[in-house]
Amino acid sequence: MERTPSATRPRQRKTSAKGAASPDQLGAHVSTAGGPATAPARGAAIGATVIQIFTKTPNMWREPVVTPEVATAFLRARDAHPVQAVVSHDSYLINLASPDPALRARSLDAFAGELRRSEALGLDAVVSHPGNYIDDRDAGLERNAGAVTQALREVPGKVKVYLEITAGSGTALGRSFEELRTLRDLVGEDVRPRVAFCADTCHLYSAGYDLVQDFDRVWANWESVIGLELLGCLHLNDSKTPFASRRDRHELVGEGSLGLDPFRRLMNDRRFAAIPKILETPKGDDEVTNDRRMLSLLRGLVS
Ligand SMILES: [Zn+2]
Ligand SMILES: [Zn+2]
Repeated sequence: MERTPSATRPRQRKTSAKGAASPDQLGAHVSTAGGPATAPARGAAIGATVIQIFTKTPNMWREPVVTPEVATAFLRARDAHPVQAVVSHDSYLINLASPDPALRARSLDAFAGELRRSEALGLDAVVSHPGNYIDDRDAGLERNAGAVTQALREVPGKVKVYLEITAGSGTALGRSFEELRTLRDLVGEDVRPRVAFCADTCHLYSAGYDLVQDFDRVWANWESVIGLELLGCLHLNDSKTPFASRRDRHELVGEGSLGLDPFRRLMNDRRFAAIPKILETPKGDDEVTNDRRMLSLLRGLVS
């Protein structure tokens, strides 16, 4: 799945703090094939000012360690490109809510590993899908929050956890604002300030939050249940499936059931101006064409 870098070398467009227009916090998930230090250039090649990465192969349990050399190379690369924020996404195998003690222990190890690598790389946060409770929803919430607490205690530092809203398929936790809030409230008070949230437009729509018909009400609801100050990042994905489908199938922006309008509203809403907005849309045949097109489409929506 990972591809080698394309021949296109980005121009070294350094955004200086003073004088430059404020960066728009818009980008995509990019590959780290060849090491994390390759990611900022991939971001720059598509015109991203924020990126999301995997710090390991997401469908394997193997837990690589970030050496000081790898971290230094990454920081140097990040500095050389106009990348404002970098988050990682945790492994698909992790289920911190599992009732199976062996799987939960393994998931906790993997999640702590994700936090450790992300902290070593100086990333802002690890985006984490709440797990599947399998047996009992409330017990699952306790298990998931307990594991997040333990992992954050094991890895002190600045890196945060952004719990992502899920589409709510099967026994997935985190399909409502109330449930996300409960998860955070159940996290130990000492590490709770390191927990915030990621809102994915595809997941919201699939979970029954109608961004198409009821955009303002959805965000008013978020504001009253969670608070906008706890919105750490946005995933900008259209959906291949209809409203409230409880399915998680990303589509290119403007080409799915959401259509362009909710994205136009997000891009023009001052409340989201400083929030990293990250595409996780299909890449197509190469790793730049679609993402570049999506990012310029989104920028073109700003009026
Ligand atoms: Zn997402
Ligand atoms: Zn998704």
